[in-house]
Amino acid sequence: MFPEFTLRYARLPDRFFVRFDPVPVEAPRLLAFNRPLAEELGFDPAAFDEALDEGRAADTFAGNAVPQGAEPLAQAYAGHQFGHFNPRLGDGRAVLLGEVTDRERRLRDIQLKGAGCTPFSRGADGRAPLGPVLREYLVSEAMHVLGIPTTRALAAVATGERVFRRVPEPGAVLTRVASSHLRVGTFQYFAARGDEEAIRLLADLAIERHYPELALLPPESRYLSLVEAVQARQARLVAGWMGLGFIHGVMNTDNTSIAGETIDYGPCAFMEAYDPEQVFSSIDEGGRYAYRNQPWIAQWNLARFAETLIPLIDDDADQAVERATAVIQAYPEQYEAEWLSVMRNKLGLARAEEGDRELAEAFLEAQAAGRADFTLSFRQLAEAVEEDAPALLELFEHREALHEWLPRWRQRLAREDANPATIAARLCATNPLYIPRNQRVEEALAAAAEGDMAPFETLREVLATPFEAQPDREAYARPSPAGQAVFRTFCG
Ligand code: AMP
Ligand code: MG
Ligand code: MG
Repeated sequence: MFPEFTLRYARLPDRFFVRFDPVPVEAPRLLAFNRPLAEELGFDPAAFDEALDEGRAADTFAGNAVPQGAEPLAQAYAGHQFGHFNPRLGDGRAVLLGEVTDRERRLRDIQLKGAGCTPFSRGADGRAPLGPVLREYLVSEAMHVLGIPTTRALAAVATGERVFRRVPEPGAVLTRVASSHLRVGTFQYFAARGDEEAIRLLADLAIERHYPELALLPPESRYLSLVEAVQARQARLVAGWMGLGFIHGVMNTDNTSIAGETIDYGPCAFMEAYDPEQVFSSIDEGGRYAYRNQPWIAQWNLARFAETLIPLIDDDADQAVERATAVIQAYPEQYEAEWLSVMRNKLGLARAEEGDRELAEAFLEAQAAGRADFTLSFRQLAEAVEEDAPALLELFEHREALHEWLPRWRQRLAREDANPATIAARLCATNPLYIPRNQRVEEALAAAAEGDMAPFETLREVLATPFEAQPDREAYARPSPAGQAVFRTFCG
């Protein structure tokens, strides 16, 4: 059923992983399958349908049947969790089957998450509850359609077993697809052991898979350029999150992808009313990973990455540190440029002008003052290009700042080389109408726990075309009712 596996990671030396077969589950049942992604990955649709009919698809995505050619393993990694270094984390419940070559000839990792206790489980159960699996499925696919680099969801399978969290919950396994699962924490694992050879192998693998143009550079500049390249992708990624109001929730270094994808959807959520201090994760008590901190946490994580590469950057350690520091210090400027570019798009501006940053900031301040929904405030600008529109105004509890801001924005629009209809179309193409709102996601997960997948399916459908108004689906665009907007999301 699977396309042919490449065993690129499995062919690294033994100390990079532990071979580990998924632990079979009691009664696998396929809950969701991502057919377009499967096709992109080179699955043969006819073979897949046959596997589906015979029940083999559920067995495979549950880990009960290891696909031909796969060599399952748990990857070793370390990581800073909430600022504290743990030298040995590793895949405690995830198993990498191997890589497949997609239609664009890129290698993609196929991983089963929730596949049982590995040698890295550290006393935890190695399993995943149904809720977090379906949440990752919905949110990662939504992020992809919203234009954000992300791991993808290929399948979700119910295990027929219970997992015990605060209460017993149905268990599930997610098949996750990633450009790779190389993390800052993977490098840290070997740096903590002084294993320079391993760092070089990892850096070369990262270059081969994600930054092949760097392979042409001489070794003296290659590895510093890798830091720069990863930094450029992280700056762009986090700017993308900020433009959607996405709060990752656990920006630990083990959840920072070298490929620049959003990875590890745990206690993540989308902001509703604009509030830069917003935190969703119940375990993030100090607010370390609050919305407004995300860009700076990414920089902190990049500094941890650069540290691991010091021995490769320059034979003279002081020189290496100096050169790496200069790169990391350039991050704020790079991030700010990415953010400004996101914000210009969100405001319908195709040209760049002095003062655009202040204009964007003033709109956010107006949202904060008006307790307005972040997503809809931008979306409804499309109605307000020429004159005040009730659809926009009624999002704001207090409107003074908005009333000051709108004429300023329109004066700026007048200097765009575009008519109002074009600007409105631009605004609708960058500002989604539908995002995975917490209340809707929770509803879908609660129904799924009761065996009803219909709300999940509907939400998945709505989120598949987030920029187009969908008849009869207005309710999905609405902010959560007052009192429900701030939701605590939990880890899986
Ligand atoms: P995360 O916070 O999701 O990035 O996970 C941090 C670490 O905890 C990783 O090493 C995970 O593999 C591990 N982990 C998380 N949940 C479980 C679980 N239920 N069983 C075993 N390991 C887990
Ligand atoms: Mg993780
Ligand atoms: Mg996680």
